[in-house]
Amino acid sequence: MYNIEHIRNDFPILSRQVYGRPLVYLDNGATTQKPRCVVEAMVGEYYNVNANVHRGVHFLSQQATDLHEQGRETVRHFINARSTAEVLFTRGTTESINLLAFCFGEAFIGEGDEIVVSAMEHHSNIVPWQMVCERKGARLRVVPMTDGGELLLEDYGRLLNDRTKIVCCTHVSNVLGTVNPVKEIVRMAHDRGIPVLIDGAQSTPHFAVDMQDLDCDFFAFSGHKIYGPTGIGVLYGKEAWLEKLPPYQGGGEMIKKVTFEHTTYNELPYKFEAGTPDYVAVHGLAVALDYVSALGMENIYAHEQELTRYAALQMGEIEGMKIYGPHHDAVISFQVGNIHHLDMGTLLDRLGIAVRTGHHCAEPLMHRLGIEGTVRASFALYNTKEEVDALVDGIKRVMRMF
Ligand code: PMP
Repeated sequence: MYNIEHIRNDFPILSRQVYGRPLVYLDNGATTQKPRCVVEAMVGEYYNVNANVHRGVHFLSQQATDLHEQGRETVRHFINARSTAEVLFTRGTTESINLLAFCFGEAFIGEGDEIVVSAMEHHSNIVPWQMVCERKGARLRVVPMTDGGELLLEDYGRLLNDRTKIVCCTHVSNVLGTVNPVKEIVRMAHDRGIPVLIDGAQSTPHFAVDMQDLDCDFFAFSGHKIYGPTGIGVLYGKEAWLEKLPPYQGGGEMIKKVTFEHTTYNELPYKFEAGTPDYVAVHGLAVALDYVSALGMENIYAHEQELTRYAALQMGEIEGMKIYGPHHDAVISFQVGNIHHLDMGTLLDRLGIAVRTGHHCAEPLMHRLGIEGTVRASFALYNTKEEVDALVDGIKRVMRMF
């Protein structure tokens, strides 16, 4: 049962006030709030289990290791990867993409090669690839989009050629809410033997993702955007690819045998996990994934879709309102008349409404749209129609002030 009152009670922060008003938290695209069970699981681990994982023969270390590896299995199941060898823990989407860009770049990218990204990528799926291009003398190619915020697949097809080494594309735009046809994007790349990375930072929190169905070669997401802790994320990679990549960082955990003359590396996934992992955050992430799974990703999706449609309808009636993109997925980016996005965001904040303003770490997309920034409201499983009403009332109030 999707009981929104019960659900909201799981998130203590939602009942706090800001400026003496009830908090209306609509900045979920940036980060989500945490249910009690996640925080309590992490506190419980620190209080009762804490010990470094993998290296200890003692009881606590083994218990911590079990929790850590169960966490990996929870992630594997959640994304339907074939094996836990394909689930690497990182600090988040950004680190996942940097890891891949570095390792893939070292192994497979050379002078004159091409890397394809899309026009609506977050900086974290542009800059690491630009850095590879600079290091290796390769070139970044960009899949264009329509004014409405949809990728142009025919142009994408024309970009693919013998020099294309990898395609990197976001599943869902953090600005426009566009859900990209990633299965088709993967299929078109695979027809030419090119691997694909999907940035899943904005898809995993909103609908079920299935690695075997998507058939992408790599997939990245962040724990903190899916009700888990900060500082933990995942890079999924097909085993065959991960086997071919060199390690990222060197240190403990990632080695099999070390001498001053020569080092051999550990098996997957440990080859890519140098140093003490954030095992407490992994446990927290696993509890968060269990939490959303218990609610049902399909129920979360239905709830958020209804909210987004309701919000788009109400907001669409406001005079001077411009909504960017097709708002398919729990995100509405907008501008009203010539009210600056920063003014709108600051004044909404005074009414207790938290939204995000600016370029949303997607400056090239802003250039494409010919704007400096937008106001972005982004929804989560715990938001309500009353909160959408508060947003709409808030926007109208700000307009009256101008
Ligand atoms: N990609 C997308 C689409 C995002 O929305 C974000 C976060 N705004 C990121 C990547 C980066 O995620 P993180 O900051 O958690 O590494």
